[in-house]
Amino acid sequence: LPRLYSGMQPSSGSLHLGNYIGALQQWRAMQDDYDAFFSIVDLHAITVPQDPAVLREQVRTLAAQYIAGGIDPDRSCLYVQSHVGAHAQLQWLLSTITGFGEASRMTQFKDKTAKGGQEAASVGLFTYPILMAADILLYDTQVVPVGDDQKQHVELTRDLSERFNKRFGKTFTVPKPVILDSGARIYDLQNPASKMSKSAETDKGIVWLLDEPARTAKKIRSAVTDTEGSIRADKAEKPGVTNLLGILSATTGRSVDDLSAEFDGQGYGAFKTAVADAVVAELAPVRERTLELLADPAELDRLLAANADRAAEVADATLRRALEAMGLR
Ligand code: ATP
Ligand code: MG
Repeated sequence: LPRLYSGMQPSSGSLHLGNYIGALQQWRAMQDDYDAFFSIVDLHAITVPQDPAVLREQVRTLAAQYIAGGIDPDRSCLYVQSHVGAHAQLQWLLSTITGFGEASRMTQFKDKTAKGGQEAASVGLFTYPILMAADILLYDTQVVPVGDDQKQHVELTRDLSERFNKRFGKTFTVPKPVILDSGARIYDLQNPASKMSKSAETDKGIVWLLDEPARTAKKIRSAVTDTEGSIRADKAEKPGVTNLLGILSATTGRSVDDLSAEFDGQGYGAFKTAVADAVVAELAPVRERTLELLADPAELDRLLAANADRAAEVADATLRRALEAMGLR
């Protein structure tokens, strides 16, 4: 099977519905067709300040949510990035063949420092894409499923791997990005012009996977819509209704066309109730399973340690090839 690599940051107390529909659901489906590595990228998370005790808990919570959301840790390798030392080591090697100008062109760094300014940002936030390249290359990854916001980083990874191979001899597999279904992009319920994001200012428009079902239903029933009253997809004119149709489609497996035909004329109240019911039906079992897994942190830690050993076996071999190719061992 072709090798797949992806990951998420443990940078919030819970995943949200956007992470679930836009990433986790799709990863789950890809497990059958790929030899998959799913990472909890804690080294990426510390590029902005984190409280150590909170971070430790968030790593466990994210691991539990991966498993509860359908990542099978016996089939796919589910591990924590910092448990495998090779990531930081390869990142250093790759940083020496990355141009400063090249790194400066990464738009995520510009976006993330637009508010606070670049002076205040850590160097780690700047070199983040090089660490991401190391993550991907260590596993001889062929396929990297990402949202469009990460596409530029995968392109950098391709450039760096090709450059390294040319300079030092064939060492890395050159990966390809697979851009995840943009129909799976979920927007903030209170502000449907922006994507649902854990860094939003208030969480009224965010459905957290660990929210209680009643709270989830309430958030969806309070979603911002419009005054027109018709239920159809129109991103520009009706972003709120379009977002709810997308959510209903992703949680029921039915097409947006089908759903708008069924619900048009029924009024927003009935429509929102249907969306709330579908989301709760999808998320309530995931929440329950997450809480069960978190009730036994020792078992979770044992599982993560075993998976880190599996990951390190692959990663260490690749790192050794890279070191030797550069004349370092
Ligand atoms: P941040 O605002 O800090 O970037 P985030 O909520 O976007 O946080 P990430 O950790 O960047 O979360 O993303 C994890 C995964 O979830 C990525 O694969 C990303 O593409 C996906 N994702 C994030 N937000 C959404 C969304 N609103 N809709 C669909 N997919 C999303
Ligand atoms: Mg993001």
